[in-house]
Amino acid sequence: MGKVYLVGAGPGDPELLTVKAARLLARAGIVLHDSLVSHEILQLIGREAEVIDVGKRCGQKLLTQDEINRLLVSAGANHDVVIRLKGGDPLIFGRAGEEIEALRSAGVDFEVVPGITAALGAAAAAGISLTDRRAASQVVFSTFSRGTEGAPMDFSAITSTTTLALYMPGPDYAEVAHRLREGGVPDDVPCVIVSNATGAGQQIRWTSVARLAHEERLPTPALMIVGRVASRNVQEISKAFWHGDADGCNAPRTAVS
Ligand code: SAH
Repeated sequence: MGKVYLVGAGPGDPELLTVKAARLLARAGIVLHDSLVSHEILQLIGREAEVIDVGKRCGQKLLTQDEINRLLVSAGANHDVVIRLKGGDPLIFGRAGEEIEALRSAGVDFEVVPGITAALGAAAAAGISLTDRRAASQVVFSTFSRGTEGAPMDFSAITSTTTLALYMPGPDYAEVAHRLREGGVPDDVPCVIVSNATGAGQQIRWTSVARLAHEERLPTPALMIVGRVASRNVQEISKAFWHGDADGCNAPRTAVS
């Protein structure tokens, strides 16, 4: 019986991989990876390893989640070192929970090797302090596309001192802006779109909830950071925010329902 490692590949830059991840990739017997994992990182996999792309291509799933789970369990029985390699951190929007359950119930030994999640890569790329004390007291990692039922985002946690890292915003920015507004996020709240954070072709667009609908779409993968911290001048915006302004737009809100 071998061991299955659920490994985070980080947001893109291969230098952001953990030392442990790089060491494991070099001695893996088999690697099952997502399409988000960059070419440079795949090159760190030892030559002897079997490499399987289990990710999505052009919206078409190559393998179902059940098939991946079964493959992981059988690989664990046939190889000493099995790697399930995921973009960012394996435990953030990565379906690792289902894989861990399958491994647990099959009695396969496993270990999680964390990676830098896209929100942290995007914040680093844009030079945004997600918890800047002048404007934020909490960070929420969220998405609109959750679960199979497409359950709506829970806005009850979003307050005026929340930084929202919005994963998988989708191609329709007008729709994103609409849903943010519907959730009670004011128009003047800054929003930064980061595409391919830390990787080749990284792009950063500084905008606001009001202007988001008219922004040109950036290439995937892209993530949005929404909140006062996503201002180029947090000092200014936090002043307005704490003292409130004429239309009350910047007054601290409690949780919106
Ligand atoms: N487990 C991953 C997230 C997988 S969900 C992590 O921890 O980062 C996929 C979403 O992550 C994408 O739709 C995008 O919103 C975001 N993402 C992943 N890599 C990214 C990158 N390099 N730049 C910007 N967003 C990224």
